[in-house]
Amino acid sequence: MSVVTIERKVLQKNDELAQQNRSLFAQNGVFVINLVSSPGSGKTSLLERTLDHLNGKINVAVVEGDVQTDLDAQRVAKFGVPVVQIVTNGACHLEAKLVQDAIANIDLKGVELLVIENVGNLVCPAGYDLGEAMKVVIASTTEGDDKPLKYPAMFRNASVLIINKIDLVPYVNCNLEVLKKNAFQINPNLTVFETSCTIPTGVGTGIVEWSNWLLNKTRNS
Ligand code: MG
Ligand code: ZN
Repeated sequence: MSVVTIERKVLQKNDELAQQNRSLFAQNGVFVINLVSSPGSGKTSLLERTLDHLNGKINVAVVEGDVQTDLDAQRVAKFGVPVVQIVTNGACHLEAKLVQDAIANIDLKGVELLVIENVGNLVCPAGYDLGEAMKVVIASTTEGDDKPLKYPAMFRNASVLIINKIDLVPYVNCNLEVLKKNAFQINPNLTVFETSCTIPTGVGTGIVEWSNWLLNKTRNS
């Protein structure tokens, strides 16, 4: 049996489990996003700011995926939302089975939005359906403006692009217009937000715009 055949079988099995997750989410009326990016682009920081904004408006639960540690889950738990940490012990992406086991620890009744923070990696999370409604990819300005061209599968499979760390644009080698052009070249249907998680929430940080968009998506799903 060739390696390619084995890989196809693994992905097939994953897709079956992802569909089971999707059915479970639908039964419970849960809107699910799969947050993906390279390490250090600000997934957890964005999640903290988003939870802060959505607090009191909607019931959110979180699944955290990390190679090691529950540091991110501890950060998220401070917002008073149910959070389950998946430690992959070295594996570089989440799979539908891991998510299935994780959500068994959450009472999905009453949850309106589930955020799955994937392992920081722009490669294989693109190929693993977890049962989410959409993938949200974060590209931070510190990574430059060429990532959509170098990791096209991730940007092609995402519905939303969040360009984070816009406050650092004057200091880094990243042209926002070029980044957006590259992203739209791969996926013209992307909805784009520009955010900063380090300057206070308000006009120009993008957090309010993104959070309100997510709120509407969740309520209308
Ligand atoms: Mg994180
Ligand atoms: Zn992987």
